[in-house]
Amino acid sequence: MKTDFTAAQLAEPATKVSAQAIRKCVHCGFCTATCPTYVLDGDECDSPRGRIYLIKDMLERQAVPTADVVRHIDRCLSCLACTTTCPSGVDYRHLVDHARSYVQERYRRPRLERWLRLALARTLPDRRRFGWALRLGALAKPLAPRTRRRHRQGRLAAMIALAPRAAPAAAAPAVDSPATAPRRGRVLMLQGCAEPVLMPSIRAATVRLLNRLGFDVEFASGERCCGALVHHMGREAEALEHARHNLDRWAEWLADGESGAILATASGCGSQLKEYGFLLRNDPRYAARAARAAALARDLGELITPAEIRARRVPVAARVAYHAACSLQHGQKIIAGPRQLLEAAGFEVSVPAEAHLCCGSAGTYNIMQPAIAARLGERKAANLMALEPQVVATGNIGCAVQIGRHAGVPVVHVAELLDWATGGPAPAVLKT
Ligand code: SF4
Ligand code: SF4
Repeated sequence: MKTDFTAAQLAEPATKVSAQAIRKCVHCGFCTATCPTYVLDGDECDSPRGRIYLIKDMLERQAVPTADVVRHIDRCLSCLACTTTCPSGVDYRHLVDHARSYVQERYRRPRLERWLRLALARTLPDRRRFGWALRLGALAKPLAPRTRRRHRQGRLAAMIALAPRAAPAAAAPAVDSPATAPRRGRVLMLQGCAEPVLMPSIRAATVRLLNRLGFDVEFASGERCCGALVHHMGREAEALEHARHNLDRWAEWLADGESGAILATASGCGSQLKEYGFLLRNDPRYAARAARAAALARDLGELITPAEIRARRVPVAARVAYHAACSLQHGQKIIAGPRQLLEAAGFEVSVPAEAHLCCGSAGTYNIMQPAIAARLGERKAANLMALEPQVVATGNIGCAVQIGRHAGVPVVHVAELLDWATGGPAPAVLKT
């Protein structure tokens, strides 16, 4: 696609990256077939190609974004299915990230929306505040049918619907845990923000599994959210602050000479960690440390192999439908690994139709765009339930919550099933 940026505009690093991405687009439209928002409604402005045009025009003219353009950018899930499909290698990820931060800086949203976005940015990445918000949500749960009637497809109804029925307990502190088999390495495990509050069983299962496979599991004190949640909202400066803060907390671990992996059990966080090098590439104080952390970032599916799961397998059985999170299959291009691990563990694993389509979770998307998110969630759940599974397995807490709302079977993390299949307890939700 021809671009018309001035030399001064191209001197700005983010614009340079965006211009390169836009120029690679050859208008072929292949991406439209796998874009969830285009698949739902067929509106070109809600397709990757349409959004590229809108963003190009906005950036070239240095225009104040219009409400119409913002609506189409906001409707993008950042699922990155388009980057998997695109034959030209368009870097849509960094383009839409740039567009979101441009909108954040120059567009004044309606007051209520500004407050809601600020409240989400202050609450979700903070475990303590998020825990309190969920307790309030659990109290409001009995009002859910009334809020749904009065605020059909509204954000308040979506927030209440996403809260668990029972108030969650305070997240357990993360404690270092040594290998219980001959030691083969160490893992610095990201503590996460939403995950330990919503499903503390994920961390517990992952630690047991890794210890059993010979890994020391370590945690960094004072670590914060990886920054993905605020980054997806266009709050780039805040996302960079989260990254710098974490890099400071990991400095000793990164510098002590022994190599190891930085593990994120939520693939949305893993995808963000792998971006640290790019995000801080122009920061002379942090660039090298950020690049090293990004290079060490791993998903569970990259850390352990089917052979070692097979070697430690105990008899378990369940029909498992595997849901590949977008942040894993599109964001990190990890496609077969988790499924192969589950198969090696002895489960009967199947993959749903339209596996490439997002479930509608996407950070704060299922709050900010509840109508589209609900349609995607229902569609994903229907495809999963057509497999008649006993349990759905995924690698991302956001997907687990979103699918759990719509599916009629328990949803667990892949690590919980692997832990069970190698001698750990069965996931609590499967015992009832
Ligand atoms: S598939 Fe790639 S090159 Fe084709 S229209 Fe979409 S973004 Fe452009
Ligand atoms: S990131 Fe997802 S929703 Fe956004 S344009 Fe690409 S495919 Fe569509």
